[in-house]
Amino acid sequence: MKKIIFVGGGASAFFCAANLDDTKYKIIILEQNADVLQKVKISGGGRCNVSHACFNPKELVQFYPRGSRELLSVFTKFQPGDTMEWFESRNVPLKIEEDGRIFPESNSSQSIIDCMQKEISAKNIEVKTQSVVKQIITTENGYKIITKEGEFDADFVVFTPGSSPKTLKIIEELGHSTIPAVPSLFTFNIKDELISDLPGTSFLNAEVAIPKLKTDESGPLLITHWGLSGPAILKISAWKARELADLKYQFEIKVNFLGIDKEDAEDLFNDYKNVNTKKTIGSSRIFDITNRFWHRILWLSKIDLEKNISQLTKSEIQNLLENLCNRKLKVTGKSTYKDEFVTAGGVNLKEINFKNMQSKILPNFYLAGEVLNIDAVTGGYNFQACWSEAWLIAQDLNSL
Ligand SMILES: Cc1cc2nc3c(=O)[nH]c(=O)nc-3n(C[C@H](O)[C@H](O)[C@H](O)COP(=O)(O)OP(=O)(O)OC[C@H]3O[C@@H](n4cnc5c(N)ncnc54)[C@H](O)[C@@H]3O)c2cc1C
Repeated sequence: MKKIIFVGGGASAFFCAANLDDTKYKIIILEQNADVLQKVKISGGGRCNVSHACFNPKELVQFYPRGSRELLSVFTKFQPGDTMEWFESRNVPLKIEEDGRIFPESNSSQSIIDCMQKEISAKNIEVKTQSVVKQIITTENGYKIITKEGEFDADFVVFTPGSSPKTLKIIEELGHSTIPAVPSLFTFNIKDELISDLPGTSFLNAEVAIPKLKTDESGPLLITHWGLSGPAILKISAWKARELADLKYQFEIKVNFLGIDKEDAEDLFNDYKNVNTKKTIGSSRIFDITNRFWHRILWLSKIDLEKNISQLTKSEIQNLLENLCNRKLKVTGKSTYKDEFVTAGGVNLKEINFKNMQSKILPNFYLAGEVLNIDAVTGGYNFQACWSEAWLIAQDLNSL
């Protein structure tokens, strides 16, 4: 019987193994830690955001700053609808939240882990934990996997260990080229009097631009203890992961807290002023922002809260609107988003056949998951790429 060895016992490995025909192969999963699926366990704040309710592959790939072109064909074969069916047909009911993220109804990543573990235990698959793969060498008939604890021969290798420098070194030694890993999905560290002491303040639809990189994103924005976070920031951090690493995370951003043009904001201001002539500026409710943030903006714009709205000078109004719609802030570093450490970088996608996720360099050698130079914005897309790639590998091996 031919032998398949998985390097790494995470999301991609388990999903692939769970879809394999175990009557055809002897299957071993080698995992360095004492426990498998540890990232799934902590994912989505312990709830595991398994996928995203975006069922059109062409739309879906737009959430992948790296890998969008290559994933298109992958998603035409296995996409979020298939993921939902896969888990639900195995008694893991899923739910779609308002923003499209898909979670287990139990709100616990353990349901996803239990399901995959059950599938694996029902099959003839050996899981060897505390097996650190140090090196892989090609042999006449396949591969030799060298771990601290011993050596394993394999006819097929499924390489799914994530993208640490150590795992990238193993794959480079086998002849693959890699793009160095840099963090993706992070929040911006900012020290500025505009946002200090206002953590928790959120904006429904703000615009964030990085003029130096000629890029911008819009979406919800959140003030944190360290600076700014929320989808608008996370999206920009993922799309510009490499450029921001080159800038050593020191750059200027321009924020429009209202998400509307300054001219439109001015119209709203004037309309309000014309109807509420007796109101003080401090008690005026013109824009969809919190009271505390409004007062902070007024303070920063050097406008007395008690001043009557109709007595504001032109330059005071312009200053106020500029701070709301074009406020420049200096980013001085980055922080990890909810411990969700995702990297941009990994094995060069040109060296992978995306019809079956096989290496174009190494025969009978498959790769999936974070080890590839593929990553997505937050929202369940990273797991979806793992499930789809892993499923393709299983189909290919089952068909041999
Ligand atoms: C805190 C956090 C939360 C996240 N939440 C979400 C979410 O909700 N939704 C989403 O889509 N994505 C999420 N992600 C991203 C997602 O977890 C990853 O994209 C996904 O786990 C990658 O799967 P993988 O199979 O490539 O690698 P992993 O799941 O990381 O598995 C790799 C496995 O290989 C093992 N390994 C590594 N090197 C070796 C070696 N030399 N020998 C043996 N074993 C080895 C590792 O210990 C690990 O178990 C989150 C990430 C983090 C860090």
